[in-house]
Amino acid sequence: MICETRRYRGGHRRRVHRTRRLFLVLLMAVLLLVSAIVLMRWLTAPPALSVIEPVQSAAQQEKDSASVSGEDQDSWQLLLVNAQYALPDDFTVELADVGGGHSVDARIAPELQAMLDACKSDGLSPLICSSYRTREIQQSLFDNKVQRLIAEGYAPDAAQAKAGTVVAVPGTSEHETGLAVDLVDENNQNLDETQEQTAVQQWMIAHSWEYGFVLRYPNGKSDVTGIIYEPWHYRYVGKEAAREIHETGLCLEEYLQTA
Ligand SMILES: [Zn+2]
Repeated sequence: MICETRRYRGGHRRRVHRTRRLFLVLLMAVLLLVSAIVLMRWLTAPPALSVIEPVQSAAQQEKDSASVSGEDQDSWQLLLVNAQYALPDDFTVELADVGGGHSVDARIAPELQAMLDACKSDGLSPLICSSYRTREIQQSLFDNKVQRLIAEGYAPDAAQAKAGTVVAVPGTSEHETGLAVDLVDENNQNLDETQEQTAVQQWMIAHSWEYGFVLRYPNGKSDVTGIIYEPWHYRYVGKEAAREIHETGLCLEEYLQTA
């Protein structure tokens, strides 16, 4: 009896066990089937992908167009203005106030401010003494210079030519671009070569490139720039160009030729 009961119970347990195993196998099969169907739909169903794709491609396109036209977008930084390359008469620029009655191209204002702040935090006193100029202001500066030279005895033609090496001919001044500033040391505000020895200029010579600025009319480059050595006139060219110009010692004209 006992044995029979055990056998019966044993048989019952085996059947229960088999049923459970069958159920588990079926469950796994169903799960596999459902997974396979989901996977197949995901791989083949175009509607699901087409929802995602336009978003991706729009973002990608934006990214691509930014990298393709990256040079064009940055070309304003390398704008060449000199006696040979005058600004167009309809040139316009969006200005930003940088204090002290000065304004510059709004795109360079943050870097200019950061540079001045860093110089000040090193205990120095940089001062902007010239920034954006309208064509009219440049014209009157130029005319004044010509008049002073004539008063010194220069013939009018010679006075015009000489004035052009010190004050840019209207339309050819970087100050009309809003990309240039004249910076001096508060303790020496003379625009002459003594500026080079001031603590502010020494700091600028060492650090201005880190903010995208270069000394635009370096010593020994007057033949190329057409402008006398001006250890106070800083021009924004962007950080990459500023670093390269700083490292190579080229002036902007030379840099643009080799770029
Ligand atoms: Zn200047």
